[in-house]
Amino acid sequence: MKTFLTAATRLAAAAVAAFALSGFEAPGAHAEELAKNLFGAQKLPSVAQPRSYGFYSKGCFSGGMAIATDGPTWQAMRLSRNRRWGHPTMIRLIERLSHDAVADGWPGLLLGDISQPRGGPMLTGHASHQIGLDADIWFTPMPDRRLTPTERENMSATSLVNPKTHRVIDRLWTPAHERLLKRAASYPEVERILVNPGIKKKLCDTVTGDRSWLHKIRPFWGHDYHFHVRIGCQPGSTGCKAQEPTPKSDGCDKSLAWWFTEEPWRPATGPQKPRARDVMTMASLPKECRVVLTQPEPVSEAAVTLGGFGATTVADAPAPSAPQVELGQPPVPASAFAPTPVKRPPLPVQRPAR
Ligand SMILES: [Zn+2]
Repeated sequence: MKTFLTAATRLAAAAVAAFALSGFEAPGAHAEELAKNLFGAQKLPSVAQPRSYGFYSKGCFSGGMAIATDGPTWQAMRLSRNRRWGHPTMIRLIERLSHDAVADGWPGLLLGDISQPRGGPMLTGHASHQIGLDADIWFTPMPDRRLTPTERENMSATSLVNPKTHRVIDRLWTPAHERLLKRAASYPEVERILVNPGIKKKLCDTVTGDRSWLHKIRPFWGHDYHFHVRIGCQPGSTGCKAQEPTPKSDGCDKSLAWWFTEEPWRPATGPQKPRARDVMTMASLPKECRVVLTQPEPVSEAAVTLGGFGATTVADAPAPSAPQVELGQPPVPASAFAPTPVKRPPLPVQRPAR
């Protein structure tokens, strides 16, 4: 009898193992905590080499840096979300864009979400923004005064797009909007910029002269009050999964015309699939993400915050406890990015959250 039981137990164990290996979750796996809860609870980044692990919509990152809530040429919005964190290259790029934009005649940037301190899925919003390489920037110019924290929470954004026609509202669109997007697209690190199809259409219809940057401007749902800057996987991040490159053409073609058909806006029918973040456990993420959660935190937020008014910057901050955050990454050459095959626009399986 004992022998029989042991054999049965072994069989059962083997069945469970086979089930697990088959990619299905064994009963009881539901007990594993959702990754969004673990990453959403992080207040500070990990002190480690800056590394992105996984994909924009399924991953995490180490060695993050914040952009200050306020700088001479920017103000961060929705401060309570604690999403001012990103890969150091992303954070430096935002600061640079803010300066360049001012030089172009844009009054300064209002910054939306970047990432959580260690990335990962979020409790609310964005499917992507998980590996520190995505940032949202408002189309609303920075006002000529400092917004209060309450205003930054509650100020509503202005949509540039008519929700019925999906076209830009002409009285809201200015040449400065075009210059801002062109500037953002000009950096070799930036692989794509997501905007509402109406905004892409406006650029297609009006940009004269150099149109080579338009291939980086990609139509997508939402993104009518902000644009979304995505940089490529950075050197050293061998565990970072690159996105398919954008087409080389300006994209003012059939793929754009599709957005002005009924299909992309058709309401989904049938049972809704659960959102990825609501089922994503640590097992769904790269294994390095477990390590990222256990890595030490910096001595303070200021020690890993870039910019601000006379605030401590990363460069002159006291060194955080070892291992030190890597500073001064070299700029990425354009040649670091792969060439660009053609790709159909995504089908409307899931409306992304803003
Ligand atoms: Zn975004």
